[in-house]
Amino acid sequence: MGARKPLIAGNWKMFGRAADLAEIGVLAETIGAAAGRIDILICPPAAYVQSSAWQNRSGPILIGAQDCSPNGADAARTGEVSAAMLADAGAKYVIVGHSERRQIHKETDDLVRQKAEAALSAGLIPIVCVGETQDERTAGKVADVVGRQVRSSVPSQSGAFVVAYEPVWAIGGNSTPTLAEIAEVHALIRETLAGQFGGQANDTRILYGGSVNPKNAGEIFTVAGVDGALVGRASLKAADFSAIILGHPAAV
Ligand code: PEP
Repeated sequence: MGARKPLIAGNWKMFGRAADLAEIGVLAETIGAAAGRIDILICPPAAYVQSSAWQNRSGPILIGAQDCSPNGADAARTGEVSAAMLADAGAKYVIVGHSERRQIHKETDDLVRQKAEAALSAGLIPIVCVGETQDERTAGKVADVVGRQVRSSVPSQSGAFVVAYEPVWAIGGNSTPTLAEIAEVHALIRETLAGQFGGQANDTRILYGGSVNPKNAGEIFTVAGVDGALVGRASLKAADFSAIILGHPAAV
């Protein structure tokens, strides 16, 4: 295994107001030196990307976005935000293919890949989300579904990207896969990436996401192949998110 720097990312979804952005400053103070050893990212709603990037420009917290347009060039696409605009606004990463976008907005693997490629072209690091539903897990289709999503959703051009394994059934609830199940799917993702990119697959960070909290984060971080986490609810409050970050073995 290469020296992959852990990444712990917070996805604020459509939560938070301007006043809540102060939590990012509190987080920066709480995590101290851990920020040098772990990449820490907050993805606020698009409306707040620029102001939070500006407010945290000289601090340790990176700012990202939760989605971007698949269109690289400026275009007549009302309501869309391009990856280039997000990069201009100070974002460093962008989440693509979150299950809420795949399910509610019917995003396909192909669209997710186009978004990831637009992000890479704009100089952003895409975080490509994959994961099975409860029905797919019950039907024994985890490898089929996650393997297909990885093969079809990650960018085809070279450049750094991140994969987040987020079992859909574990998001927003209280249950997570067992540590063995997490290890198994992370190995499958790495193997799938190796089939596409050869040895370079060892450089790709693979995060776990789905009901990560201050209580379970420490043990999830010990699982082989887990390079960090994508955290929803528990990233909104600096106290919870910093407890997760400080529970990573690289934090001390
Ligand atoms: C998410 O939305 O990416 C997520 C992992 O949410 P939660 O941590 O709240 O389950």
